[in-house]
Order: sequence, then structure tokens, then C-alpha cells
Amino acid sequence: MILKERSESEELLSRRYLHRRMELSEKEKTYYFNLEKGYEGEKKFDILLEDLQEERYVLNDLLFEVNNSFFQIDTLIISQRAIHLIDIKNYEGDFRLDSDKLYSVISGKEYKNPADQLKRCTTLLRQLLQSIKYPSLIESHVIFINSEFTLYQTPLDAPFIFPTQLTRFLKELNQTASILNDHHKKLAKKLLSLHQPKNPFSTLPKYHFDQLQKGIYCHQCYSFSMAIQFHHFVCKSCGSIEKIEDAILRHTKEFNLLFPEKKITTHNIYEWCKTELNERTIRRILTKYFTKQKKTNGVYYK
Ligand SMILES: [Zn+2]
Repeated sequence: MILKERSESEELLSRRYLHRRMELSEKEKTYYFNLEKGYEGEKKFDILLEDLQEERYVLNDLLFEVNNSFFQIDTLIISQRAIHLIDIKNYEGDFRLDSDKLYSVISGKEYKNPADQLKRCTTLLRQLLQSIKYPSLIESHVIFINSEFTLYQTPLDAPFIFPTQLTRFLKELNQTASILNDHHKKLAKKLLSLHQPKNPFSTLPKYHFDQLQKGIYCHQCYSFSMAIQFHHFVCKSCGSIEKIEDAILRHTKEFNLLFPEKKITTHNIYEWCKTELNERTIRRILTKYFTKQKKTNGVYYK
């Protein structure tokens, strides 16, 4: 039973929008692509968990604070006997472990050792569970989800599940009986209430309204080359069709996430979407989906 679904973090969404509308530096681009890749891996794992047997609670994407330290959990499964803490890595290619450090074989680049990250996360989760008076057995694993991943020189006791072991891991998990009671339910509720929706450490590249490309882009291929036909936007590159309302709404949400300090006004959204539509059409759509707020200096929406 999934108690908390996974969705893109605000940071990932913001970076995704920025990538479409401005030229990111190489470093920012790499960072952004890694976020996308990580998210893609997590979604892949979610699909595998759809066949989870027995009574279990699944909580995705958690961020907790304990003793002034923040830690993130990709997937937490509450079973009768234990809590499974799962970190998902979508690394691709050949890697090697060398005196506890992780390197890419081809580039030689050093990565954070997932085992160290997992250890930290497990310790902090244990502290958290103690502080809320729910001491539980924790079983922690790093799951390498990408079938193109190989890790050389792995110690036998590493908490790693490799792509070739994933089916067996899930099978073994499913074969352990699990019946949940009120205690588990309260624990899950408590954990959900402690989840921090905003990550104070997420950062974004610097950007400014004037510097971003304006316009409506295709929801399938992200091309800015769009035509209007019968109340729809039609993509000139891939032929995808989207209702005008849906597209304006999508772009308004994007504007709101990127510029939380700016008000949603007809004029701002008109500037942002930069289409052949007139301001009246934009106003009509905003009125339909948002609540009108009146201020002495004009109307805006929420
Ligand atoms: Zn398209």
C-alpha cells in the first residue's frame, strides 16, 4: 500500500524548466541530467514494487531532520518485522570500489560511496525512530537499478543489490509474511507528519525573467514552434496537440514555480507565454482555474 507517492521535486522541476528556457553551464547541465536520471531510476523501482505482496506500507521520497541533520530516503517500506530503507542508484557503466571510494572506470571520476551515504542515513533514521519512541529493526540496501551497471571489487558484505540480484531480492521480500497493525499505522502516520516538504539545501542556478526564453512549448518534444488550431496548440515539430487551456495552465504553473515572488497576473502570463492569443483569452483561463485576488494596484490570481 503506497502511502506517499513519488513525484518530481521542486528542484528537479525548476531545473527542467530552466534547461528548456536558457543555456545552462556544462556543470549545471550535468547536475540536472543526473537529477533526471536519478528520478528515472526511482520510477523504475516503483514499477517493480507494484507487485509487492503481503501487508506493507510504502513511503517514497522522504526528507527528515534529526539533531540538525537532514537526510533523504528514496523508498521506505514498513513491514511487520522490519523497516526497509532503500536507496536507489541509476548509475550506468563500469565502476570500481577502491579503499572505500567509488570511481568510474572510464573517466576515473570519484563518486560518493553509496555505502557511506546509506550508513549515515540508517544511523539518522535509527535516531529519529528512537526519538519518536518507535525503535524498529532497520534493513538498509542500495539498489543499483540500471542493468548496464557493473561494480568491480565489491566486498561481499556490501549492502548492495545489483541488477542481476533484484528479482531475487524482491522475491525474498515478498516471501516474508507481513501483517500490519495499529502500531505500524501510527508509525507511518508519524513519519509522514515529520516529512519536510522543502529541502533547504536545494539550490538553483541564477536566472532572471528577462533572460529566459518566453513562449509556449510542446509537452511532448519541448519545441517552441507551436501553431494554434481550433482551440488547440499544435506542435510543428512532432504534431502533438494540447488544449489551449491546458497549455496555459501548464505554463502558469511553471511561471509560478520559477518566480514565486511574482504575481500571477494576466499580463505576466501573457508575457511568459508569448503566443498569438490575446490577453482576454489568458484572463478567461486564469479566472476559470485560479481565484481572483483584488489589490489596489490591480488583479492577480492564486
Ligand atoms: Zn512536439
